[in-house]
Amino acid sequence: MTIIEPHVHMLARTTDEYQAMYRAGIRACVEPSFWLGTNRRYPGSFFDAFHLVLDFECVRAARYGIDHYCAIAMNPKEAEDKVLAKEVIDGIGPYLDHPRCVAVGEIGFNLITPNEEEALVRQLQIAEERKMPVVLHTPHQNKLKGTLRILDIIKNGHFTVERIDVDHNTEETIKYTLDSGCYAGMTVYPFSKLSPERVSAMVRQYGSRRVMVNSSADWGISDPLSLVRVVERLRLDGHPESTVQDLVFNNAMAFYSASPKWKPDFEIVPPDPITYQHR
Ligand SMILES: [Zn+2]
Repeated sequence: MTIIEPHVHMLARTTDEYQAMYRAGIRACVEPSFWLGTNRRYPGSFFDAFHLVLDFECVRAARYGIDHYCAIAMNPKEAEDKVLAKEVIDGIGPYLDHPRCVAVGEIGFNLITPNEEEALVRQLQIAEERKMPVVLHTPHQNKLKGTLRILDIIKNGHFTVERIDVDHNTEETIKYTLDSGCYAGMTVYPFSKLSPERVSAMVRQYGSRRVMVNSSADWGISDPLSLVRVVERLRLDGHPESTVQDLVFNNAMAFYSASPKWKPDFEIVPPDPITYQHR
């Protein structure tokens, strides 16, 4: 089956993994901007990273048969530096205009601070003005508190819920996210976050409407084939095929289609690896 991976950090992954994803049916992905492991000290470091992911990673992915799009943003962790965050957000426009950028993200909360909230609100406003989808990161600690605060901000700001994916939901938060009208992301990790079994149980309880599963794979312990394992689990647990399709294809397709730039090509044929010359 054809799978869309709606949230993955392929900059941190290897070419072997692109090939494994392709073999498993993953044909399109979206890579949100995120923290790179150390806090950046200059606005220019963000702009170079945006340029790298928009102009290089999509070329690398296509070489392995995967149509790669991006979400661009000032991430919540580094948004704690208020001066830096302002300069980055002030200069983000041209990167949001890029043909491979289909969303603003990931924005949200890390430690749920006023500075993080300022960057979050400002970027929600930018996304609203541009009618762009938004990928929202909920915090690892105090997840319920952070998620409820995010949902309040969305409600009070009258932001368009159909264009917002509130990500990394758990059993604790999923009901609130779905009740808000936003899309709900579920992240599957090998040890932390959700397992395929927990996704299966949550889908049985809450259904598959507006729910998207992702791997959020990065340079930590994570697995870019998480969605394949979820498909296997859902089938073993007897979920209808339409539910499986919703979770790993239909809902991501519908969500990102709010961007006219989202036109995934599921038929990219990887070039011969021996003769291909990387530009
Ligand atoms: Zn992420």
